[in-house]
Amino acid sequence: MTRLLLIGAPGAGKGTQAVKLAETFGIPAISTGDIFRYNVKNETELGKLAKSYMDRGEYVPDSVTNDLVRDRLTQADAQPGFLLDGYPRTADQVVELDGMLTDAGTALDAVVLLTADTDEVVRRLLNRAIEQGRADDTEDVIRRRLEVYEEQTAPLVNTYSARNLVVTVDGLGAVNEVTARILAALEQRGISA
Ligand code: AMP
Repeated sequence: MTRLLLIGAPGAGKGTQAVKLAETFGIPAISTGDIFRYNVKNETELGKLAKSYMDRGEYVPDSVTNDLVRDRLTQADAQPGFLLDGYPRTADQVVELDGMLTDAGTALDAVVLLTADTDEVVRRLLNRAIEQGRADDTEDVIRRRLEVYEEQTAPLVNTYSARNLVVTVDGLGAVNEVTARILAALEQRGISA
């Protein structure tokens, strides 16, 4: 079965593509951002903690995020495969995920890097903020989120490239076009649904 990561700047369209790919492959799309937002909405302890970071465009601490993913990946639906959207985002998270996969005797099949230029990303995020009223999407916070992505997450692409796992796909264009591009790129590596 298929184990995928989706990496890309905020606003590159990861969430939308994650749902489509998960559907196609018959695997769960696991989004740490969605899990945090669900907890924020339900005012859980985790939600209160996560919100204090999310509202500033900062990452939730690794210890919290790693525990959450470890727990999620042990659930039954994730055993045949999964697509992680928005995790790992830091070098420490990569190490932790490696450990989880080793413990489970599995490995990643590919890391999909979704690219989008910064102006387009900011435009998308501002639109989404207006449409969905997302508190973490004010202009200052958006700028900070992009900075944090560049500092902490963009370097992970090199880590996974060195393992020959990265598939780079242009995230610009219609949703279905981008999905088709990702599926074609994966197919080229012998990964198909
Ligand atoms: P997303 O919807 O994936 O952009 O995530 C929204 C917010 O949740 C991020 O800006 C972070 O504050 C937090 N978050 C999501 N995933 C992670 C992660 N892997 N590590 C740390 N914080 C995260």
